[in-house]
Amino acid sequence: MDALQRLNKKSIRATDIAAQYWCEKQMELNYLEGPKIRKEMQKGSEIHEELEHETNIPIVLQTKSYADFMYKSLYTTYMALETLKENKKSRELLVYGNLSKYRIVGKIDELKTSNESVIIIEDKTRMSNNMPSEAQKKSHKAQVILYKKLLSEIISGVYNEDIFSKEYGISRLAVTKEFERQLDALEVPKSMQGLSEITDKFFKSYRSIGKLSDTLMIRYINQYTHDLINKYEFKVGDEEVNDTINFALKYWKGEREALPVPFEEKWKCDYCAFFGKECKVWFPQRTL
Ligand code: SF4
Repeated sequence: MDALQRLNKKSIRATDIAAQYWCEKQMELNYLEGPKIRKEMQKGSEIHEELEHETNIPIVLQTKSYADFMYKSLYTTYMALETLKENKKSRELLVYGNLSKYRIVGKIDELKTSNESVIIIEDKTRMSNNMPSEAQKKSHKAQVILYKKLLSEIISGVYNEDIFSKEYGISRLAVTKEFERQLDALEVPKSMQGLSEITDKFFKSYRSIGKLSDTLMIRYINQYTHDLINKYEFKVGDEEVNDTINFALKYWKGEREALPVPFEEKWKCDYCAFFGKECKVWFPQRTL
């Protein structure tokens, strides 16, 4: 049994891979024991919503079924991509892909056009104006590296509408009548109201965004003042992309058990809700 089956999941989220680079064991415990959502995470998601509404046209669609939900997800990203060239940026864009035999899902915070290329930007909120530690940056970097991989494969057509449709059973899905009425109200053409049609539009839009920049960016934002603390820009080569992903996949393939943090990073345990309860790896060595 691989980790996906054990955790009763159908796909790996980009945030799971980022969380692995903080503490793999904590990521697993979040699934097994239920997430311990902290206040600052809640605050972070409010800021994301606020920023999304600044750039994207809010789309109000009530979903009643899985098909409605899939349609809304694809349509929202399609609409955001359609405005990318004009607005020079779009936010909260879903990306799908495959790594090894696993389905991967992620949401890119922002795509921005600059000098004929498109930059992937990830926003992270902070409780103070201090920049994050190297350990935190490593986890954030892994997430953006994964987005680069997924987006490159969509743009090049390696991952496309045919593969996606087969994996998600798109041809068997139909939106509810009530959802259709909402699409009519938004003046979505009838020819675009099917799941297959919106899937095609979603992938075609991505393929037309242009060249992906080699530079990746993480923006750190103060969660109370909403001010930009600093930007962290970096470039990655194919080897680093593949190493980052292959290391994470070893856990999902069941080739190793979830790793706790190493001794040098046991300070992370002080911030972990599982410390001393579900996880006692470094509990005997705690500083009292
Ligand atoms: S207590 Fe430490 S090692 Fe255990 S899950 Fe939490 S962060 Fe990881």
